[in-house]
Amino acid sequence: MNAKAVEYPDLLRVPVLGRVLRWKYGRLVFQLPMTLIALLLIYDGFTGRPIASQNLATIAPWVHYRGLIIVALLLAGNLFCMGCPFTLPRTLAKRLSLRGGRFPRLFRNKWLAIGNLFFLFFLYEWFDLWSSPWLTAWVIIAYFVGAFVLEAVFSESAFCKYVCPLGTFNFVYSTVSPLQITARDGDICRTCVGKECLNGSYATQPVILIDAIGVDGQPTQTHTHDQNGVLGCGTELFVPQIKSNLDCTLCLDCARACPHQNVALAIRPPGSELVRENAWAKRWDLALLVICLAFMGVVNAFGMIPPVYALMQSIATSLGLTGLGWEDHTIEGIVLFLVFAIGSLALPISLTLGAAWITRQITRTKLSLREIVGNIAPAFVPIGFGIWGAHYGFHFITGFFGIIPVVHQFLLDHGITLFGLTPDWALGGSPNETVIGLVQLVMISGGALGSLIVLQRIARRLYGRRMVEGMITWALILLALTLMIVWIFSYPMEMRGSILFD
Ligand code: SF4
Ligand code: SF4
Repeated sequence: MNAKAVEYPDLLRVPVLGRVLRWKYGRLVFQLPMTLIALLLIYDGFTGRPIASQNLATIAPWVHYRGLIIVALLLAGNLFCMGCPFTLPRTLAKRLSLRGGRFPRLFRNKWLAIGNLFFLFFLYEWFDLWSSPWLTAWVIIAYFVGAFVLEAVFSESAFCKYVCPLGTFNFVYSTVSPLQITARDGDICRTCVGKECLNGSYATQPVILIDAIGVDGQPTQTHTHDQNGVLGCGTELFVPQIKSNLDCTLCLDCARACPHQNVALAIRPPGSELVRENAWAKRWDLALLVICLAFMGVVNAFGMIPPVYALMQSIATSLGLTGLGWEDHTIEGIVLFLVFAIGSLALPISLTLGAAWITRQITRTKLSLREIVGNIAPAFVPIGFGIWGAHYGFHFITGFFGIIPVVHQFLLDHGITLFGLTPDWALGGSPNETVIGLVQLVMISGGALGSLIVLQRIARRLYGRRMVEGMITWALILLALTLMIVWIFSYPMEMRGSILFD
């Protein structure tokens, strides 16, 4: 995609829709409702009913938001970053920007994002965030503050690109999405003067840019940067070089800034970038993010089935923690941290290094371990997406109608009656187990199959006739991941409660 004129349909050229998306306030159309919802969640989290299943702050983000993310990523793309409420004050912060420097070089990678994802999942389990409207409200506030401060202090959108766990999740799995930003015509980009998609067209004082000079030496085409202009790409992507959805928040600022209308939101074969050579940088941080995130999906789901209690009890006993007289919650935090650290970081990292080393030995190629891991990593996207989709899909389907009585009760609590009706709490129960099982089966088998296909295409490209040797170790890891998640989903899933250690 994007070598010459764009070859796929462009959503920005669709009548009405294209105009709305390119409109200067087009993103605001999505962000304002999301911001109002976020404020409502904070309000209900602090003032509403303390029971998780009856409070908007716990139901909406932990059940509906996560399920809708999966649907949006699969059918369209990173719509939730596009409508992200946390970036609304960010835009204000940008205008007030202290014109600070760039984010520290040490952190301009995905290591911080891996750590933040890990801690979010760990804290979610340890503090049972799903059951606390009050804590969930604080998490939302922390997001607003974090986005505002980082945006005000640093010149790029450091929060989205390097820090935000939700954005990182969306970046990774938007690589399976059917939409991608690209340049309509590479030749136009080559002669483009201002590169506004990256630099923006906002200027405190009007600046005239000369696009072409005639034979008489006089300007024949100009355009102006002024206060009506828009910011360039916050995550510093340069449209003619974009080959992947990684780091793209789908904000469409590039399309609004480009004076040549040369940015396309192209429809592409879903996941096509996973098999395209050079679509991803071959970096340790990026590759391990993708692989660890798939394992985090397994560990996260494992935290919801009965065997986790027995495992945690045996770890606590064998480490002698139960004899120290500490509170159960403290012991739970230590043991849970160990389970998460081993299962979602130590295990995938050591398996990855081991598999890369074995692959290099049996294929006898000169590729470095980093190059092998960097090339193979995209194969972990479909299985990871399937694991998370099956997990979040479970909550989404089981709790889908539960939002209705919660909203109803919220209105009643604030003096708004709906024709004298009372909330129907039965709507939150009776999940259709056949539908849930079917969705999980489709997500997991589809993810596993997708991963094997991507792996086979990558191995053929890298190793040619030695394709089978090149992919066998990785295929075994994918198979183990699949069997593990099938085993986990064979148990009844429940929100894990506090553990009382013996
Ligand atoms: S501003 Fe438009 S024409 Fe210029 S480089 Fe960016 S996408 Fe290409
Ligand atoms: S390339 Fe940058 S400016 Fe364009 S939609 Fe993606 S994040 Fe926004």
